[in-house]
Amino acid sequence: MAVRGDRSVASLLSALAEAPDLASAASFLLTQIVDVTSASRACVFRIEASQENLRLVASSGFDPDPGPVSIALSDVSSPLIVATLAMAIVQGESPLGLHSFASLEPWIAFPMPQPRFRGAPESISVARGIELVGSPTVTVLPRSEARVGVAPAGVALIEGPISQTTIDDVVELLTLASPVLARVASLQDSRELVDRLGQQRDRLTLMVDSLPDPVVITSAANDIIAQNHRAERLLHARDDDSAGRRRAIELNNLLFTSFLSKAAMTGGAQSGSRELNLVDPDEGNDLLFEVLAHPLGERVGPEDAVLSVLRDVTDLRRAANELERQVQRVRQAEYTVRGERDRLNLVLENVADPILVTDQRSNIILMNDQAEQLFQIAEAEQRTRREVAAVRGNDTKFTSFISEFALLDDNARRERMSLIHPRSGLELPVEVVSGKVRNERGEPIAIVSVLHDLTRQVENERLYETLKRLNSSLEQRIREATADLAEQNARLQWQSQEVERANKLKSEFLASMSHELRTPINALIGYSALLLDGVLGDVTPKQRDALTRGRAAAEHLLALINDILDLAKIEAGKMPLHLEDVPLREVTLEVTQQIEPMVRKKQLDFAMHVSPDCPVIYSDRTKIKQVLLNLLSNAVKFTNTGRVSVDATAAPGGVRIDVVDTGIGIRQSDLQAIWEDFRQVDQSRTREFGGTGLGLSITRKLLERLGGSVTVQSNYGEGSTFSVYLPLRAPSGNASDVSTNSAS
Ligand code: ADP
Repeated sequence: MAVRGDRSVASLLSALAEAPDLASAASFLLTQIVDVTSASRACVFRIEASQENLRLVASSGFDPDPGPVSIALSDVSSPLIVATLAMAIVQGESPLGLHSFASLEPWIAFPMPQPRFRGAPESISVARGIELVGSPTVTVLPRSEARVGVAPAGVALIEGPISQTTIDDVVELLTLASPVLARVASLQDSRELVDRLGQQRDRLTLMVDSLPDPVVITSAANDIIAQNHRAERLLHARDDDSAGRRRAIELNNLLFTSFLSKAAMTGGAQSGSRELNLVDPDEGNDLLFEVLAHPLGERVGPEDAVLSVLRDVTDLRRAANELERQVQRVRQAEYTVRGERDRLNLVLENVADPILVTDQRSNIILMNDQAEQLFQIAEAEQRTRREVAAVRGNDTKFTSFISEFALLDDNARRERMSLIHPRSGLELPVEVVSGKVRNERGEPIAIVSVLHDLTRQVENERLYETLKRLNSSLEQRIREATADLAEQNARLQWQSQEVERANKLKSEFLASMSHELRTPINALIGYSALLLDGVLGDVTPKQRDALTRGRAAAEHLLALINDILDLAKIEAGKMPLHLEDVPLREVTLEVTQQIEPMVRKKQLDFAMHVSPDCPVIYSDRTKIKQVLLNLLSNAVKFTNTGRVSVDATAAPGGVRIDVVDTGIGIRQSDLQAIWEDFRQVDQSRTREFGGTGLGLSITRKLLERLGGSVTVQSNYGEGSTFSVYLPLRAPSGNASDVSTNSAS
């Protein structure tokens, strides 16, 4: 710098270096330039730190002030950019095309170099600059000297014209001042950067601190390099902390360190368990964290630093556990429900009655096969119009019943309904029994209905009705008949009383008549005997024969009269009993002796047997003899060849006497008749042997009087057996009729 001394240069540079910021430094430099050039207007541009724009940093002499001006570095058509990047002086005669500098002509732009550093803007060659400018009014001056180690930093724009000497002075001035200005600028840039970074850091710190999750950066040795507030609460002990908190923090550090070591060993926290258990130092309860680890690399921290974000999953885990339990419960419930449903289906399918389940809106939601047959229309190709109508009808009836029921408060309902069986078209009387299914709040959620087939019941009821009708008509008829009967009965009763009276009269008559008859007959017999015995003189054979016949007839008559008398006495209740001990052996023997001549005459076998256990009975000896005589004489009378026997044995409560013959026997049809008075089955025999037809009648009546009985068994042509039963003690009956041996 020829115009100034070394001292002034030194003071200029030191003033520049001492400038508080780039703007003052640039202004100061500008005053120097104006001082040197005496230019009325000048300004300084600098490349921004971002190296994107050329920006106006100081101006002098402009009125009005040009304000902020900036030209993109990429705008290489601008002479100012060419001057800056080619580091060559560019001068122009015409305006620059920039609004703020419209009146600035001629002008001259001086490059402002700075020491080259890494990342500094790249310069271009002068030739390239000339090429880029491409305007006749703009001249790019060749660089006066090759400048190594410098890089473009900005440009000083000065209003021309300026002499060559002044140009050299300016170049010199800028060569010296430019690097200092660059330093000031970079210092300012750095300061600004520091401020910006500080702000940024504060923002980030605030951000990280306000995170709910603990965030920790650890070194390779697992030492904590940085942590946020939340992490500090867990891992960093302060001086004023309680002993308990300290212990908890110590424990947490231990747990965290061991977690990190383990993670490092197993190849990073990403693999293996990412869960870390810590203790809440304030509350003392367990906390569970999920650790998300990010290796940070050397840019941010020391080598192998790891950023760990600890996500508090205590509640999450609790919720997860609860959720798992819920899921288990739901699954269990689902399983139970499935089981229930299967069972229900099984029941539905196996019940013979149709079952339907309907929802709240009376829609059928479930039914078994039996119900489907009634309420579901068959496959399209099979259905007939009748079936469709039947199903519709059934559905209408059922739905209206269910809808009505759904509106009621009742729990169950029962109703008869007449459906149509779609297949057969037959009427199907049913009883619908419906019940509501309620949820736990008691609200009805479904209705289950079972349909009972009443066909049989209805049929039964119809039958029952018919039966009842028949019954009542029958009852009517019976009532009428009963009335008739009662009338007849009364008549009969009257008749029987009459008959009884007549009978009694008859008996009385007979009794007296027999007496009246017996006396003369006895006289007849007596006198016949006298005559036959020759007491009254000799009789001729003819007379004898006549007398014999007469006597026989008289004897028969007497027997008849005796029998009639007996019968009459019995019937009149005037047959007295003489009760005593009767040894049956004796009685039987006496009777057989009496019958013996007849037996001999007919040459019959005869046997009598009285078993030794046969007891002595207390009865009427004469009447027993009469009974046996009647039976035995009949037996002999009606037996021509063979055998007659009498057997007496003990019987329960008495004795039994069987009179057995091998005679003519009695027809089955006559077995009843033989007991009647005067009844003789075979008259020819009687003619042969005599007989009155009263014997059996008297026998039975006598035995009745003695408390005994008689029965007969007979085979016609083979023989008969008459069995007599006598009790151990004959009933005493009417005391007046009874005389006992002990008493008499
Ligand atoms: P009758 O005096 O005629 O024997 P009964 O009353 O003793 O009268 O007997 C009635 C009838 O019963 C007899 O006429 C006879 O026809 C029949 N009868 C009685 N006993 C016998 C017998 N042992 N075998 C066959 N017929 C008998």
